[in-house]
Amino acid sequence: MSDRLQLVENPDQRKVVEEYLNRVRLGPEELDDQRIAELQARIKQQLIEKNAVLIAHYYTNPLIQALAEETGGVVSDSLEMARFGKTHSAQTLVVAGVKFMGETAKILTPEKRVLMPTLEATCSLDVGCPADEFSAFCDQHPDRTVVVYANTSAAVKARADWVVTSSIALEVVEYLDSMGEKILWAPDKYLGGYVQKQTGADMLLWDGSCIVHEEFKAKGINELKAVHPDAAVLVHPESPQAVIDIADAVGSTSQLITAATKLPHSKMIVATDQGIFFKMQQAVPDKQLLVAPTGGSGATCRSCANCPWMGMNGLENLLAALEKGSNEVFVDAEIGAQAMTSLGRMLQFREQQGS
Ligand code: SF4
Repeated sequence: MSDRLQLVENPDQRKVVEEYLNRVRLGPEELDDQRIAELQARIKQQLIEKNAVLIAHYYTNPLIQALAEETGGVVSDSLEMARFGKTHSAQTLVVAGVKFMGETAKILTPEKRVLMPTLEATCSLDVGCPADEFSAFCDQHPDRTVVVYANTSAAVKARADWVVTSSIALEVVEYLDSMGEKILWAPDKYLGGYVQKQTGADMLLWDGSCIVHEEFKAKGINELKAVHPDAAVLVHPESPQAVIDIADAVGSTSQLITAATKLPHSKMIVATDQGIFFKMQQAVPDKQLLVAPTGGSGATCRSCANCPWMGMNGLENLLAALEKGSNEVFVDAEIGAQAMTSLGRMLQFREQQGS
């Protein structure tokens, strides 16, 4: 580890994440074709009646992604989800994803109603970075600029100087490093380590990880690559460094889809949540997409490249949220205003970059 990279080990956070994961009800819904068609029709009708737009993350059920596309909504990464909701004219934003995405939409557009199919869907990075402990950690390092990943609660964002997504993290940290700033980074230690390695910035890392990306293994990917030597390896930077090291392309979900179109390979081994295959296959209809192997399989696998929390978004609970106005997202006004400062810096930075 370079002397400009420090990791603060915190095994307790792992226990907290495991306990949460065991407690919530997980698993995708099983529906027959007739019920799917009925739900799709009713959701479309509700979106019109309620002046609502569907904003879906790449990792959600492909049926939800398809509905978002068909109804004038969007399927995207968390940065674009935030930007889309802020500029769209609909009065109700229906966010299919995980809790921090709904919170971010509410912070950016407090005047709009934000609904989610479920409020239980969270993220191991969010769960593993409680606001009170994180705030105390920041207090211990007042000389550092606090940069947090978007996968955090509104309260953690409120404590930060900057929020970043994986699509903009490198640029922001590069900029801060050029200004001579030392960084406190949270919560994903793998993304933080990757950013540090690329930028050389002085970074102190919180010990958090994504339970999905953490399970990708370099050994398994190398074995798959031996069977498909003509395949490119696409890796999300929430994956361990050994996996990043064997990648042909590293990037956020949107950046990986772009990479799939640009790389000359006809096959791709993809190390991120399988939900991305819906949009990636649209972008490269003639290429073969292969799921990168994870640490376990079947019952021994905690994720199998499927985020359990993203999987809690279904057509049934999406319709229920629209019909009943349930699962509305609220953010404390003071926390929201503070979080808007750090989120706003990211959005302004992106605008200045002209993309
Ligand atoms: S895939 Fe990982 S980072 Fe994304 S929501 Fe799920 S647990 Fe969080």
